[in-house]
Amino acid sequence: FLGPIRQINSVIETYPKGIAGFKRYLELLETEPDVDDAPNARRVNHLNGEIRFNDVTFGYEGKDKVLQGVNLTIRAGETAALVGPSGAGKSTLCSLLPRFYDVDGGSVTIDGMDVRSMTLESLRSQIGIVQQDVFLFDGTIRENIAYGKLGASDEEIWEAARRAQLEEMIKSLPDGLDTFVGERGVKLSGGQKQRLSISRMFLKNPPILILDEATSALDTETEAAIQLALSELSQGRTTLVIAHRLATVKNADRIIVVADQGVAEQGKHEELIAKEGVYSRLHRAQFGM
Ligand code: ATP
Repeated sequence: FLGPIRQINSVIETYPKGIAGFKRYLELLETEPDVDDAPNARRVNHLNGEIRFNDVTFGYEGKDKVLQGVNLTIRAGETAALVGPSGAGKSTLCSLLPRFYDVDGGSVTIDGMDVRSMTLESLRSQIGIVQQDVFLFDGTIRENIAYGKLGASDEEIWEAARRAQLEEMIKSLPDGLDTFVGERGVKLSGGQKQRLSISRMFLKNPPILILDEATSALDTETEAAIQLALSELSQGRTTLVIAHRLATVKNADRIIVVADQGVAEQGKHEELIAKEGVYSRLHRAQFGM
């Protein structure tokens, strides 16, 4: 019984689509789960975060393959920006890492260990996900930040808020950390919610990060604060960013272009522009350059 409870916990954290996502998860629970702990699954702690996709093939049930024969290595600590046409499979590639789905062929390894050989709970404890839709529950700011590490002290919470560029905002609220947010409390802006979810990640402190960068426009100041918080968060962690911002791709250690069921191109921004291939076309279409 504990298995599903733990899975619900990790889904609430990593699948923050609110009630809709939760209902969908309950529906999934009623069916045979596709992803479960192997009988001899091992707990993992303190991974370095070297990620490898080895000849990975994957398709959603009853549909054409999204990924075919993908080989990709991301070094521990590297920041890789995933770009590519809409629907090419960037999110899908990322979702194979915390095992929201299992590969149909090949394997995904972290530090040389197949993700299917680890317990789901310990695997997911090593991966932080910052999505566009942030899950906030009705409660105080303190409780919402501490969701990243249950039992975190106030000192740790303030440190996480500071690093996520949220300190000033919280201090300006009448009840500070005790301010209620959510349905009946203070409404946070999209940018504030995102920084709150980043502050949770400072507390969770995972070696691997998946960032789904916001597509919606934010004002310049908020945008800058988020960029600053994210670049500090990704320091020393293996980071996969589903990138929508020109600054992100330019600053990434490597750009990975996902197209035609796999990795079409990879390299630094200038190299890929000079190549005049998929990236350079995408870049022109997206940023008009
Ligand atoms: P975008 O930039 O638009 O977010 P993407 O590159 O992240 O796109 P994916 O979301 O990974 O692409 O989708 C790849 C393909 O898989 C698409 O054809 C999409 O419709 C399909 N797909 C994604 N999620 C599911 C799902 N849960 N069930 C079935 N098909 C899915």
